[in-house]
Amino acid sequence: MNWLKKGLFLFCLLGLLASFAGCSQNEVKSTEPIGKAYFNWFDTVSYVYSYAGDPAERFEELSAGISGILTEYHRLFDIYHEYSGINNLCTVNRLAGGEPVPVDPKLIEFLRYAEELYGQTDGEMNILLGSVLKIWHDHRTQATEDPAAASLPEQETLLEAARHLDFSLLEIDEEKGTIRLTDPDAAIDVGALGKGYATEKAAQYLEEQGAGGYVLNIGGNIRIIGHKPDGGGWRTAVKDPEDPEGSYAAILDIADTACVTSGNYERFFAVKGKQYHHIIDPDTLWPAEQFASVTIITRDSGLADALSTALFCMSYEDGLALAQQFGGVEVLWIEHDGTLRYTDGMEALLTN
Ligand code: ADP
Ligand code: MG
Repeated sequence: MNWLKKGLFLFCLLGLLASFAGCSQNEVKSTEPIGKAYFNWFDTVSYVYSYAGDPAERFEELSAGISGILTEYHRLFDIYHEYSGINNLCTVNRLAGGEPVPVDPKLIEFLRYAEELYGQTDGEMNILLGSVLKIWHDHRTQATEDPAAASLPEQETLLEAARHLDFSLLEIDEEKGTIRLTDPDAAIDVGALGKGYATEKAAQYLEEQGAGGYVLNIGGNIRIIGHKPDGGGWRTAVKDPEDPEGSYAAILDIADTACVTSGNYERFFAVKGKQYHHIIDPDTLWPAEQFASVTIITRDSGLADALSTALFCMSYEDGLALAQQFGGVEVLWIEHDGTLRYTDGMEALLTN
């Protein structure tokens, strides 16, 4: 069970964060973190931590606020289940080719942002990649259930699905509050952006509430709100792609920012000894081979999530140029042989 392994790792990671934060039983109460784990968002495990020395009631109130926000986005972004009383992306995919679907304005705002990022990343982060991702997802599921029957998609099948990826197939009508996929074979999949975007909304809520010293770890998307009470940062580990459950390739010292990694070790299946992971290069329709992982540090967690996926699908040179265009975006690339490459600003955050 991959989520369990991921959960255990994240638990350890937060243990690490806590220990780096200098928390021990002997310390004054105000510097001890309070934390909570959640298992109900985005098919993964999440943690909310406060290092602010807040009274328990304030932490309860703020974590309930965060929980409300993440639960709402989880439901809006879910492509596998529908929920009574709302039209979500599962509804939109199901009704592709049919009538416009009335949706929550939050979903429209999200899709506009996804459209902007599609343009900015030259289509490398494309939430309309759903028809191709579904094929890979089905093969991964089959391989997980019966490894002996693991198989690869036919190139012809991928090419057929690739005829339904253009963002213009998504019609957004802000005035009427509707969206519609004009092509019955087009499908939305927000796996590359949804978690980070929702995390950012939760972080904005905390900022509005004047909360500092919070760490959100939403399925590995880390967003830190403010600094530690002593003004310092948090040491945050980046997994070693060769040994993701056991060791770290880098430890960063960060505060008041987001940290998101896309890696080839997160979800994959094997055919004839070769691994096929879950980040698909829209140019080849096959798992991107450029890097083992790409980590982005930037304040907006949605942007960090989108760019981690996009840069994973680009060459180092193109990725660097794109990061520089945004400004305030730092990158750590890990190559297949373990070599680390990083932007200047990232180098300043490395502690090892
Ligand atoms: P994580 O699984 O850790 O969230 P990513 O943020 O890189 O990693 O998102 C990967 C997910 O995004 C995949 O599981 C798939 O649903 C979707 N995806 C894969 N490749 C792309 C792509 N090139 N553009 C947009 N979405 C993608
Ligand atoms: Mg991403």
